[in-house]
Amino acid sequence: GRAQIGVTGLAVMGRNLARNFARNGYTVAVHNRTYGRTRDLVEQFGGEGDFVPAETAEEFVAALERPRRVMIMVKAGGPTDTVIEEFAELLEPGDVIIDGGNAHFEDTRRREAALRERGLHFVGTGVSGGEEGALNGPSIMPGGSPESYESLGPMLERIAARAPDGTPCTTHVGPDGAGHFVKMVHNGIEYADMQLIAEAYQLLRDVAGYAPDEIADIFRGWNEGRLGSYLIEITAEVLTHTDAATGAPFVDVVADRAEQKGTGRWTVQTALGLGTPVPGIAEAVFARSLSGHTELRTAASPLPGPQRTPMGRDEAADFADGVERSLYASKVISYAQGWDMIRAGSEEYDWHIDLSDVAAIWRAGCIIRARFLDRIRAAFTSDPWLPTLLADPEFAKELGEAQYAWRDVVAASVRNGVPAPGMSSALAYYDGLRAPRLPAALLQAQRDYFGAHTYQRTDREGTFHTLWGGDREEIRTDGG
Ligand code: NDP
Repeated sequence: GRAQIGVTGLAVMGRNLARNFARNGYTVAVHNRTYGRTRDLVEQFGGEGDFVPAETAEEFVAALERPRRVMIMVKAGGPTDTVIEEFAELLEPGDVIIDGGNAHFEDTRRREAALRERGLHFVGTGVSGGEEGALNGPSIMPGGSPESYESLGPMLERIAARAPDGTPCTTHVGPDGAGHFVKMVHNGIEYADMQLIAEAYQLLRDVAGYAPDEIADIFRGWNEGRLGSYLIEITAEVLTHTDAATGAPFVDVVADRAEQKGTGRWTVQTALGLGTPVPGIAEAVFARSLSGHTELRTAASPLPGPQRTPMGRDEAADFADGVERSLYASKVISYAQGWDMIRAGSEEYDWHIDLSDVAAIWRAGCIIRARFLDRIRAAFTSDPWLPTLLADPEFAKELGEAQYAWRDVVAASVRNGVPAPGMSSALAYYDGLRAPRLPAALLQAQRDYFGAHTYQRTDREGTFHTLWGGDREEIRTDGG
């Protein structure tokens, strides 16, 4: 065999990744369950590079140089297991199977362990950037053995996006499920980012009274500054778009029900299991879910909201400035939550994930690519043990500068009855973490009252229980 890599599963993602490898000078074996897609790929794009089309799995495997590298890009879940099994039987010890689909990291851990028993390397890799990224340079998040990265890494580095400083947006994230875990958190952060941007839009529209094309201009302005990012850029594009059929702003003709494929939900479910607070991501998942509950919304639609007072031009411009600060501060908070979760996962599964590398490989190629990721990279480079992004001196300073505007915007959302669950939850997280005392003291006392769950004291060591039903004597329960 002479192909350096094989791609099986040639729908949009697989086809574009195969083309990306070929355009970068690799010989690529290509295979798909139904041969039509393989033939189409070679007919349409065969001129872009060196493809070896294979009709059967056996031909495909025979086309590959050793150790073989087989990248699977099929539907996540059951189909991925089917295809892994099909190829595992044809491969030999030392060969590498790569799953580039959106697998749950627990599935990746299971598959990696099973294939390791058979002497095969299994790499579960996150690929972000959609079809366009797959073709022109995605952000790639591979997890697997160090040996598998030695053989695969250089190829991934060639096809990955490049950060503004020229470094490829891929790295060996860690063992087994580390790559898919990090990709999952990426998607959770993406949900939070999108929700915050959507709230900023709605506030500018309903509180400040701006029209969609004016909001597009505001977003374009923001895109030049610290909020500069792919998501802000495409938001401006969407808001500029006019519906051809009605002549109305496109955003006004789209049904206001947001769907989800599930990676945001996985992030929150996993965070619950790890005990890591990610309320910003959870609010984003729930906001989508709320939007889709037409029956609840219809039933609640007669409920009264507050009177709104229209804003004058100057007031609106000031408010827009506050929304920028509120959006930025809330964004810092959701990234802080995401990184906290990556650290928690890394500790739980013993992955040793480099937190600064994660920021580095998200600077380009992926959906959350943004100017500001370079600052997160810098924060974790200068202090790998930074307990939270909020404690980084630069981010702390910015949050402090944003706080009054942030509070004003959240207050305006409440006063005007425009829901901003992402921004208000981010502010509550900020205030919760910085508070010298939390009402958790009262909660713990309640728990001790009804369930004898015990408590610790601020003034001395030990575990205590108050005999609430009796004379309220305090007893020590830890034998001290
Ligand atoms: P799809 O998820 O739509 O999957 C279609 C591909 O899976 C086809 O090649 C299909 O083969 C193959 N397939 C499905 N079932 C089986 C089976 N039982 N046995 C063999 N092959 C099977 O394709 P996408 O390109 O959209 O995505 C591929 C992977 O990448 C998915 O895991 C997805 O979650 C992930 N991903 C997708 C992104 C996107 O933007 N679309 C972004 C990042 C990741 P056939 O042609 O024969 O039907």
